[in-house]
Amino acid sequence: MADHPRPPEPRQTDLPPGPSDADVIRRERDRLQLVVADLSRKIKSLEEQLETATTMTEVTPVIASRPELRKTLSSLVRRVAMIVQGEKCAIMLYNPETGVLEVLPPAMGLTEDQAKAFKDQRTIKDNVAFLHVRSGVTAPLIIKRRDEDEHVVDEQCIGVIHVFNKRGAPGFNDDDMRLLEMLATQAAAVISNAQLYIKIQEEKEQLEATFQSIQSGVIVINRAGKISLVNAAARQICGVSEADVAGKPYAEVFTDGEVARLLGDAVRHDEELAREITLVTPARGERIYQAQTTLIRGENGSTQNIVAILNDISDIRNVERMKTAFVSTVSHELRTPLTSIKGFISTLLEDQEEYYDKDTRIEFYQIIDEECDRLTRLISDLLNISRIEAGRALELVLSEVNLYELCVRVCNAQQSYTTKHQVVCAVPPDLPPIIGDQDKIDQILTNLVGNAIKYSPDGGTVTVDGRDDGDSVLLSVQDEGLGIAEHHRDKIWERFHRVDDNVDSQAVSGTGIGLYLVKHLAEAHGGDVWLDWSEVGVGSRFMVRLAKVPPKQGE
Ligand code: ADP
Repeated sequence: MADHPRPPEPRQTDLPPGPSDADVIRRERDRLQLVVADLSRKIKSLEEQLETATTMTEVTPVIASRPELRKTLSSLVRRVAMIVQGEKCAIMLYNPETGVLEVLPPAMGLTEDQAKAFKDQRTIKDNVAFLHVRSGVTAPLIIKRRDEDEHVVDEQCIGVIHVFNKRGAPGFNDDDMRLLEMLATQAAAVISNAQLYIKIQEEKEQLEATFQSIQSGVIVINRAGKISLVNAAARQICGVSEADVAGKPYAEVFTDGEVARLLGDAVRHDEELAREITLVTPARGERIYQAQTTLIRGENGSTQNIVAILNDISDIRNVERMKTAFVSTVSHELRTPLTSIKGFISTLLEDQEEYYDKDTRIEFYQIIDEECDRLTRLISDLLNISRIEAGRALELVLSEVNLYELCVRVCNAQQSYTTKHQVVCAVPPDLPPIIGDQDKIDQILTNLVGNAIKYSPDGGTVTVDGRDDGDSVLLSVQDEGLGIAEHHRDKIWERFHRVDDNVDSQAVSGTGIGLYLVKHLAEAHGGDVWLDWSEVGVGSRFMVRLAKVPPKQGE
């Protein structure tokens, strides 16, 4: 209160009051009673809207930008002017920021410029000429805060109400003043309630905008089972096409399915629920949601609103499912070479009589050697994956790498595992060397050539080619295998993703980490890898770009 101006005393300005007319006053009193009753009804309805607001906080001036408030104020000033029989009427509110009283538009009988210039009652003398004031009466606008027993616990003056130029009389009299005082009390209540109403309205709009923008689906229904809000995400999740569903019974909007059941259970049992639900919509296909309902309780503990929140956890569940599948495939991938190594070593150990000739023994040793290579590759892939997963960069051990020699070596090694395929190294011998990590580039190429062989179950030619491309070198690996269907092309780069469209691809063993790793390894070399061409049943071509000099690590 210290910052606020003292409430001005009701006062008369200028000329002495005219002769009092008992009849006019009586008539005006009757009309006034009707007006007061009307105002009281308005206040009551505002109070009802404000039911949820707990305390009346610091009052700040209203910017009457809202059309509905402008309308209320316009009829208020017109009515006050009519009752007090003035030509002009203006409400002024104290602005704590500027420290002066300012006209709260619209004012009656004042132009916009006059209203803007009319700043403070302290300068009223200057305003007399400017506003063409002959006579005037002013009353303070006081807000009274009452406790439960209707005792006034706080009073605050928020401004004043002026009425100028008494109609048909030289000036205002004491009755006019008292009348204005009474009206001012009502007007102050209307204004402060409107302020609070607008504040709540703005907060509500802000809250709604926030609700609309969040990714999770939010549905709010009231205790009567009517919808208060369904945000954009929830409409999309549930396939609700109509934007404005507020006020409708929830059962009309969510007619069947899991969401209807969830809301129904929450309403019926009046309890908070959490469950996982699966929804199928044409737009999003099958998705899994973590659905939760929360009860918002009123002061008496009864449920006012039920809020349901839907979070899309399909990706999490998918990765979990893929991880489980991954663990079982990795165990299988580890066990297969180990079983083979153990089998051949046991055979060789038991062969004391030298039943197998030298060539067969060498063949066994070669198989053991290959299986050991397979294990080493798998373990090295797994170690790299765990580095990537832990958010650590793949450390490169840099040296000059002769790509031609590396490609020849990888092609020969891969050819040694297969008789069905021809692995052709078409890389030109003069392909320039690059700076890179020899082992990791070997891993990139081994994975791609290994895949080209694996996913060509009927054999065919696998061709590795390469060319100089300015700051980088391009390598390609082409096969005549199964090919990759359009809808899998983006996904093959995701960890654990395996194509399971047909029996042929299902029959090939693998972990689904090869390409994911290849991508990271190529990127670590300032390059990239992509599927350049593929046709189901015809073959595929993967391309790798490697910078001649990789970026500095950590960049
Ligand atoms: P995997 O261990 O399953 O081979 P990758 O990450 O290396 O894992 O490959 C992911 C998927 O991409 C494979 O399961 C396979 O379906 C598909 N794929 C990769 N390379 C080829 C290829 N050359 N031809 C056809 N499909 C391929």
